[in-house]
Amino acid sequence: MKNLLKFIKGYKMVFIVAVISVIGATAMQVTVPILIKYAVDSVIGTEDPGKMTFIMNTFGRNIISVVLLITAVSFIRGLLMFIKGYLSNYAAENIVENTRNKLFKHIQDLPFEYHSKRETGDLIQRCTSDLEMIRKFLSIQIVDLGRIIFLVSLSIAVMLSLNVKLTLYAIILIPIIFIFCFLFFGSIQKQFKIADETEGELTTVLQENLSGVRVVRAFGREKYEIDKFDKVNEKHRAISFKLMEFLAMFWSFSDLMTYFQNAITLIVGAKMAINGEITLGTLIAFMTYETMLIFPVKQLGRMLSELGKTTVSVSRIKAIFEEPTERVYDNECEPEIKGSIEFDKVSFQYHDGNQALNEISFKVEAGQTLGILGSTGSGKSTLVNLLQRLYEYEGHIKIDGIELNTIKKPWIRSKIGLILQEPHLYAKTVGENIGIISPSFSESQIKRAAETASIHNDIMAFKEGYETTVGEKGVSLSGGQKQRIAISRTIIDDQKPILIFDDSLSAVDTETDMKIRRALKQRAGQSTEIIISHRITTLSESDYIIVMDEGQIIQRGTHDSLIQEEGVYKRIWDLQQLAVI
Ligand code: ADP
Repeated sequence: MKNLLKFIKGYKMVFIVAVISVIGATAMQVTVPILIKYAVDSVIGTEDPGKMTFIMNTFGRNIISVVLLITAVSFIRGLLMFIKGYLSNYAAENIVENTRNKLFKHIQDLPFEYHSKRETGDLIQRCTSDLEMIRKFLSIQIVDLGRIIFLVSLSIAVMLSLNVKLTLYAIILIPIIFIFCFLFFGSIQKQFKIADETEGELTTVLQENLSGVRVVRAFGREKYEIDKFDKVNEKHRAISFKLMEFLAMFWSFSDLMTYFQNAITLIVGAKMAINGEITLGTLIAFMTYETMLIFPVKQLGRMLSELGKTTVSVSRIKAIFEEPTERVYDNECEPEIKGSIEFDKVSFQYHDGNQALNEISFKVEAGQTLGILGSTGSGKSTLVNLLQRLYEYEGHIKIDGIELNTIKKPWIRSKIGLILQEPHLYAKTVGENIGIISPSFSESQIKRAAETASIHNDIMAFKEGYETTVGEKGVSLSGGQKQRIAISRTIIDDQKPILIFDDSLSAVDTETDMKIRRALKQRAGQSTEIIISHRITTLSESDYIIVMDEGQIIQRGTHDSLIQEEGVYKRIWDLQQLAVI
């Protein structure tokens, strides 16, 4: 609750005015039955108006003035409710917008490690449904909670002032109705959660099927997929139906209790009216108060039991905020980077204890090319991750002789161009994708980058050239085309002293691969390149090649020296030579 209230900070005044409006509105609502009582007893009947004398003195004894008065009171109530709704929604929307922005910024600043171990779906849910839960609480529940408590207390106070005995009868079942609602909605939360989960399952099955539609067709798995969907769909139906059954039972039972309560008030009240203990107006006022009270009491029970859900959402969001962001130290430097890289006995262990790198040492001079060959899981990507300062390492990594962990993270990352095997392209035009890092690139810069990456001719063959949209709504690109666009966008600014190709030429044919590498070599201000590949021809022109296995370097040298040596490199080279023949 304390955490929930923290959200209100900065909007306290808005909420206070909203609460004052709702108190005013409730006071107006509670006035109506008193006016009805006055109309029945003193305007139609002949009772002494008591405290209402001033109305009689002002408007005379006529029913029209009472009707007008009730209309005016209802109008003021409506106005105040509008102000309350407007203000609490205004505050809630702003608070949620600010929180969402803060949350997004925080997620951007979280260390890579956090992202690598979290599920994306979970994070998305926290940014959407959990925040929606809080929005609902702030815009509706918080003020409604106050409104209902005030309405119940004020109505009971007025009823007590009219007749104590009838009040006791009129509220006898109310605590039971409240407890029943509270307990019911508390226990049904679990069912709601299961229903939510099965809906999630349904979405997952659907999503997997649609995104893997090629595999489904290729393996003729349509029937299997339909059966799988049928099963989850049936589960979802069964749970939703059970939920509806529970709710139907709840509403009928709670309505039954409401009728009981009405009957008690009517029987006792009618008897008292016949005996002359109360007036007919008082009986009508009691009946009106009761109708006014019971629904909000049920609502209160439901709201209080659902408060748990909101607090869970708050704690889920708070947990993200409590994750420490990636720190940037002031004493870290931003040196000019030429691109020499030295690993000196670098070891690294993932959090699960997996020793991914074990005392790796090598050196590449600025402008040289390092080739890395290694099986899956040998530690190649880990090595690249360390170079980008995504994790802390043991040993020394020196860039131009400067220890890497004394260089600012954003600085070093801006100096390294990384091209992945399966690059992510945006649903924008080809040209925009190439110039994505800055809108200031000219058409000729984009074209030059595309030419270096050997993709210009492919782009020109598209109907709309550089204006062709990429992705679901546009042209679908081959793996090799995507890789080459990714290369263009990395090399466009000529500002990256270090370029890393993480298997990013794998989908390009050997000839184009060589053309790209040659073109890169001819660029002015040549970068240091790290090329990770399974294809020996891609690595063969590197100045230095390392072969990795299980986090260690098992062979090193140039292509010429390595093919003379018995070992993995020569074995793969021979195999690939055979494949060519
Ligand atoms: P490669 O790029 O050569 O395929 P990686 O650097 O991805 O190899 O992986 C090296 C080792 O570290 C593997 O055993 C892999 O399972 C493990 N590994 C990679 N990423 C993580 C991670 N985020 N958490 C734990 N272990 C990891």
